[in-house]
Amino acid sequence: MQPAHGSLPHRMAGRDRPATGALAPLLFGAPADAAWFALLTGLAATIVGLLLVLRRRMRALQRQQQDLAEQQERLRLALWASDEVFWQYDVATDALESTRIVPGRGGMLAAQVQRDPAHPIHPDDLPQVRADLRAHLRGQTPMFVSEHRVRNAAGGWDWYRARGRAVARDAQGRVTRIAGTARNVSHEQRQLREHRIAAEVMRNMAEAVVVLDAQFRFVAVNDAFTRMSGYSAEAVLGQDGALLNSPRHDAGFYQEARRQMAESGRWQGEMWQRRGDGSEFLCAVQSTAISEPGSGQRLYVLVASDITERRQIEQELRYLANFDPLTDLPNRTLLAERMAQAIVRARRRQSKVALLFIDLDRFKDINDSLGHAAGDRILRQVAQRLRETAGPGQTVARIGGDEFTVLLEDLEAPEQADTCAQRLIARFDEPLRLDDHQEMVITPSIGICVYPDHAQVPTDLLKHADTAMYQAKAAGRRTFRRYDASMEGHSRRRANLVAALRRACERGELELHYQPQVSLRNGRIVGVEALLRWHSAEFGEIPPAQFVPLAEESGLIPAIGEWVLAAACRTLADWQRAGVHGVSMAVNISAAQLLHGDLAGSVRQALESCGASADALELELTESMLMANADLAAQRLQALRELGVAIAVDDFGTGYSSLAYLRRLPITTLKIDKAFIDDLGQPGDGEDAAITTTVIAMAHSLGLGVVAEGVETDAQLGFLRQHRCDVVQGFWLARPMPADACLQFLRAWDGDARRQALAAP
Ligand code: C2E
Ligand code: MG
Ligand code: MG
Repeated sequence: MQPAHGSLPHRMAGRDRPATGALAPLLFGAPADAAWFALLTGLAATIVGLLLVLRRRMRALQRQQQDLAEQQERLRLALWASDEVFWQYDVATDALESTRIVPGRGGMLAAQVQRDPAHPIHPDDLPQVRADLRAHLRGQTPMFVSEHRVRNAAGGWDWYRARGRAVARDAQGRVTRIAGTARNVSHEQRQLREHRIAAEVMRNMAEAVVVLDAQFRFVAVNDAFTRMSGYSAEAVLGQDGALLNSPRHDAGFYQEARRQMAESGRWQGEMWQRRGDGSEFLCAVQSTAISEPGSGQRLYVLVASDITERRQIEQELRYLANFDPLTDLPNRTLLAERMAQAIVRARRRQSKVALLFIDLDRFKDINDSLGHAAGDRILRQVAQRLRETAGPGQTVARIGGDEFTVLLEDLEAPEQADTCAQRLIARFDEPLRLDDHQEMVITPSIGICVYPDHAQVPTDLLKHADTAMYQAKAAGRRTFRRYDASMEGHSRRRANLVAALRRACERGELELHYQPQVSLRNGRIVGVEALLRWHSAEFGEIPPAQFVPLAEESGLIPAIGEWVLAAACRTLADWQRAGVHGVSMAVNISAAQLLHGDLAGSVRQALESCGASADALELELTESMLMANADLAAQRLQALRELGVAIAVDDFGTGYSSLAYLRRLPITTLKIDKAFIDDLGQPGDGEDAAITTTVIAMAHSLGLGVVAEGVETDAQLGFLRQHRCDVVQGFWLARPMPADACLQFLRAWDGDARRQALAAP
């Protein structure tokens, strides 16, 4: 416009220069000038017309420019308002230009253009962005869409969601430019991430998470809830939370929990719940009220863990702490508690309390020989009997292996406790059934202690009852004794004996005596039995019948037994070296040695260390030890037999006496107990004589040798000889004697008249 505007007068001036001075006559109407006038008028009109057109065009152009500016302003506004960034990407130069609208000077919006050749896109996201871009350039996607991180002014990363499409192509139709908008979505991304994490956490929680609405209807549950309750999310959503209520609580319990939740927004406690299949579980629940984001509605979030098992274990532990799991009777702890309570009551009522301490006679033998399973069965039956006999309201407790107590309350006189003890003893006369084939009688020994007569506190009550029980044992078992102070001396002696026995081995107080055995067939001495003697420095001579059981009870027998084996083998080797042959050495073995130790190993070592021959050694084991733990006994005996050692069953006839059973064991000899021999050859010996003859006959039929123990008289000897007993041992022949004396005896025997008599047919 400018040049055109400016050139028009210049051109006019050039063309009309000669007539400039004559413009006035023309204007004022001279006829010669009329033609000029018309010409000029026409020209003027044309110029005016041109000017008018030009002006219109100018106006239109101005309007267009204004529109454009307005449109740009609107676009700027839109971009600014939408918080989006406009970007364009030049494919050829790989240049990215972004335009952001920012408030400028005077409240105006200004465009801030940024050309960044470094593409501030996060390196991790860039490959994906380029891939999306390529796909769009190739026409594979109608739009380029991408979400990626872009570096921000602070140097951190913002998430952007960009959308765009191709906007320019070259002559070959290849895209040269892509343009679009991008939007910072960091906030949304963060929210999304938080949401995703929250959902994942809830899904993976071991605790059940339940969201209930204000009316306590299920809104959401997690997988743990389904695992715990058996209900799927679909099955519970929209349902009332009461769906899981258990009848273990009354309705008021759940109502109260809801009331507290509604009022304080919190509830915490243990709650029984019921599964879909009707089974129940105990939960530890913690609930909190929250407002639903957005709606502001109240929600309750309950986090629950299944503590059924934990509670069971706690209860079991509590039970174990107070009860004996084998018999279900109270244990020592609970007994102590009950005694204390009973004493408090008795003091108030001016009455008496009695504690009966019951120990089963020879239970250890049964346990060792029949095995622990049988022992346990017996203990359970004993517990049952004690409970029945003591009656309801009395505390029967088991305080140790075969030790039981009965606590009697509200007594007026100590004699009432005696009556109860008598009743208990009588009740045990009836055999216990072991199984379908076996019955056995087990007897109790009972000690009684009475509050306030003998003791004031529970510990003394128990201690003195124990002391009294030992007196009952010492008095021959299967009886009871009431405590009195003089008993203390006895039980102290017992404790002192155990202590002394412990030192006996090292002090050299133990000694073996040997009692010869003679063959009734040829009158030769065929063996000796090694019998233990203890000469205590403090207590003098103690018979084995007294200290062997003590050694067994106090766990000393394995060590003592080992010593006996070694000493007996040494004597045997000495004698063999001294030219004594054909005399075997019998050694007594305790149950603990056979069942709990490596007896075969000990025997081998004892023989090897002194050079004695195994075939001259015989081990004596009692019938009760061998009888029921047959498998183990058979195994151990077999190992001993393989060493070449003979096995004798001692005290035969006093226990279960099942020959059929013994047949299964690799034994070589039966020793008939002295009790059957005592009356032989006397008037009225009927039963013993019959038993002895039968045993001899049966033993022979099984290929076993028979030894009669405790033979004292000629009459006994005559009977045994007549009934073809193989060997006899007893005072008739010789008393047990020290090794030297025994060796002399063996040497002198050939000249003994009794030998000649026996050798005669
Ligand atoms: P046992 O094995 O039955 O021993 C036989 C017992 O009868 C011995 O008693 C013996 O002295 C005694 N005796 C032998 N002949 C006669 C007789 O004619 N009349 C009388 N009245 N008694 C006779 P002792 O030595 O007092 O031993 C008693 C029990 O002690 C033994 O009975 C045995 O069971 C046990 N014992 C002895 N020494 C040992 C040992 O070294 N280890 C083990 N575990 N127990 C032993
Ligand atoms: Mg013996
Ligand atoms: Mg015997």
